[in-house]
Amino acid sequence: MTTTDSRVLRAELLSFDADPGDDDTPAPGSVRHHPDGAVWIENGRLRAVDDYATLAPLLPPGIEVVDHRGKLITPGFIDSHVHYVQLEIIASYGRQLLDWLNDYTFPEELRFADPDHAAALSEAFLDELLRVGTTTAQVFCSSHPASVDAFLAASHRRGLCMLAGKVLMDRNAPEGLTDDVVGGIRDSERLIGDWHGKGRLGYSLTPRFAPTSSRAQLDATGALLRNDESLWLQTHLAENTGELDWVAELFPGSRDYLEVYETSGLVGPRSTFAHGIHLDQAMRGRLAECGANLAFCPSSNLFLGSGLFDRQAAREMALNVTYASDVGGGTDLSGLATLKAAYQVGQLRGQPLTAWQGFYGLTLGNARALSLDQRIGRLAPGMDADLVVLDPAATPLLARRTARCRSLAETLFALMMMGDDRCVAETWAGGRLQHRRP
Ligand SMILES: [Zn+2]
Repeated sequence: MTTTDSRVLRAELLSFDADPGDDDTPAPGSVRHHPDGAVWIENGRLRAVDDYATLAPLLPPGIEVVDHRGKLITPGFIDSHVHYVQLEIIASYGRQLLDWLNDYTFPEELRFADPDHAAALSEAFLDELLRVGTTTAQVFCSSHPASVDAFLAASHRRGLCMLAGKVLMDRNAPEGLTDDVVGGIRDSERLIGDWHGKGRLGYSLTPRFAPTSSRAQLDATGALLRNDESLWLQTHLAENTGELDWVAELFPGSRDYLEVYETSGLVGPRSTFAHGIHLDQAMRGRLAECGANLAFCPSSNLFLGSGLFDRQAAREMALNVTYASDVGGGTDLSGLATLKAAYQVGQLRGQPLTAWQGFYGLTLGNARALSLDQRIGRLAPGMDADLVVLDPAATPLLARRTARCRSLAETLFALMMMGDDRCVAETWAGGRLQHRRP
């Protein structure tokens, strides 16, 4: 006999079928909204999504119906760029990128040579992600293969959809963190064999950034990517002006930073480039042509003083922009906090971010840019049951504010400005309840 794991959550539902655009009114057909809706979860997937009144007569007798009326269900949030190994150095004072790496990050990542430490921090990191409603992330581990084993094993046990990879770094870093061309590729291949495509996991090739990889290491990484189109790639690009000067010095033959990666074949439809603040339109156009995405990490960019990301310049070139926390450079794992910082950066650039675009970005937008939209990012039949139950009255002040809201757009915007882990009543992933607010 097979057992069916089945239940219904009743609440207001919000999901996107397409990019809503940047206007105050979302593009026709982009938003799916059920003021009194229900999702029917069965064996880890969404069996049906509809108005509660439409779904109720179809439900089998005795099925559990969880009443979340007054709350809002959206697809689980996606974080396109984050470092789990930097969890405990979040909020480290007073440095910009290159000094921050040397003074805080590299010493911290050395600790991940210890598999027990990696296992403990993997669990802590996943607890924190789920607490803020993030059900999928693309994750930098350290350069130690065991740091990847620990993270992906923990993700697999929880049934989560996660992308991760071992940092490749064969120069300009402390001895305990560097690999070499042959060893780094051999370790990556072993990890791909063990984890890529296992359950809901995927492998992301992870050269840290141009300054810490030799040309030979970047070339070898590009060869791996060419040989298997199902692999992802994640790295950093044009975050900080000091970094730009260093790259120009290290790769004098490249006309610009992006060409360093292009020459090695690292720019493709499954490539994520974190930051991309200091780019020109030609570079944005080249990224767009390849279908790559830029991970916009606003709280990190503000915290490290890296610069103000030009979201509209990327959108004009039809370049995919994803939203990311970049913890430990970022100051908050919450996707809502990321949207708040993105709005603030946008205000300083005269590019305010609508709540529609923000929530689309955290869900279907990120899923599409990461080529995960066949499985996640929408509330629709057949999709994996990854969702977050948001409470628009989670705090006294938020309750006051949202009581005055006259539209869903206003409520979403209040959540985006004021929301944090207190707004996440429940997080579900793979059909399992992964977090419930105490
Ligand atoms: Zn980063």
